[in-house]
Amino acid sequence: MSKRDYYVILGVSKSATQEEIKKAYRQQALKYHPDKNPGDPEAEERFKEAAEAYEVLSDPEKRSRYDRFGHAGVGGASSGFGGGMNIEDIFEHFGDIFGGFGFGGFSGGRGGGSHSRGSNIRVRVKLNLQEIAHGAKKKIKITKDIPCEACHGTGAKDGSAYHTCPTCHGRGEVTHITNTFLGRMQTTSVCPTCHGQGRIISEKCPVCHGEGVVKGEEIIEINIPAGVEDGMQLSLNSRGNAARRGGLKGDLIVLIEEEKHPDLIRDGKNLIYPLYISIPQAALGTHAEVPSVDGKIKVRIDPGTQPGKILRIRGKGLPDIHGYGRGDLLIYVNVWIPKNLSREEKRILEKLDQSEEFQPKPPKHDKSFFERVKNFFE
Ligand SMILES: [Zn+2]
Ligand SMILES: [Zn+2]
Repeated sequence: MSKRDYYVILGVSKSATQEEIKKAYRQQALKYHPDKNPGDPEAEERFKEAAEAYEVLSDPEKRSRYDRFGHAGVGGASSGFGGGMNIEDIFEHFGDIFGGFGFGGFSGGRGGGSHSRGSNIRVRVKLNLQEIAHGAKKKIKITKDIPCEACHGTGAKDGSAYHTCPTCHGRGEVTHITNTFLGRMQTTSVCPTCHGQGRIISEKCPVCHGEGVVKGEEIIEINIPAGVEDGMQLSLNSRGNAARRGGLKGDLIVLIEEEKHPDLIRDGKNLIYPLYISIPQAALGTHAEVPSVDGKIKVRIDPGTQPGKILRIRGKGLPDIHGYGRGDLLIYVNVWIPKNLSREEKRILEKLDQSEEFQPKPPKHDKSFFERVKNFFE
């Protein structure tokens, strides 16, 4: 994939000033910010592209190399960005661009050069087969770290009792230049004074004791798509714990737990129901009611139905999670053989056994029962 021109990406001229480049990058970053475009890979690509362009054009030395040699001139950029820059890196390196830019509005506070990230929260949600078949809305109450309102998540009293870190001047990181036999090496590390925060709290917020977060409760409504399976995980971005002093929020991980149905057995998209009928019902035919995820279903059992027969009711299984149709309900017919017969019942059966029609007549070249069942499910 060929790279686009950095000036084109940011929409600035070749003679743009540093201030113009910074402004242009801000606009691009806001437009394609992942919080504004959740789940949009195109926007994420643009967001990364803009960060890469800014990384080069905001550095006079790299910019002049780029001007002379193009992308080749900045291929092995010191930060290692050139290749795959991830979103986390972008916030780490250019967090100050977002800081004080009203970003808290949709994410609860990115930036400030913060390196922290809130932890993920894991919850289990129990669903029965009916809920899995139709999808479900579940309301759950979680206790989590939320930004402290008193200090707007800064950890500083009234949200203002802090000053810019004198060591890193708010960047949250420091650059060291060392002379080695290979030449001058530039390394960047987290600022030791402010630990990447970019600012120093002069007076801690009395409510959260300088943490920027407090324990709070939230009721979250989770939309669970139809067709989920036991053990699946859904991830809700940024619904986890808030980070200390305004970093990225963690995620909420929802673990699906499937409740066993009293009668139906799940096999992927299909549902299996073991149906028992009596000997006379098998011989004479009958109607039976079987459970399904859409309520009771009436099925006809033909006269002369052998045990082991499987009736398939199309579309009465579970929906595919990716939307590829619905599975089937497979009714596995068993014939119930009684045990404690009365003298009269025995007499009737003995009489029936003298009838030629009651003698077993296995079909010729019948596949084994095991194979029939196996083939059916494949
Ligand atoms: Zn506070
Ligand atoms: Zn600092």
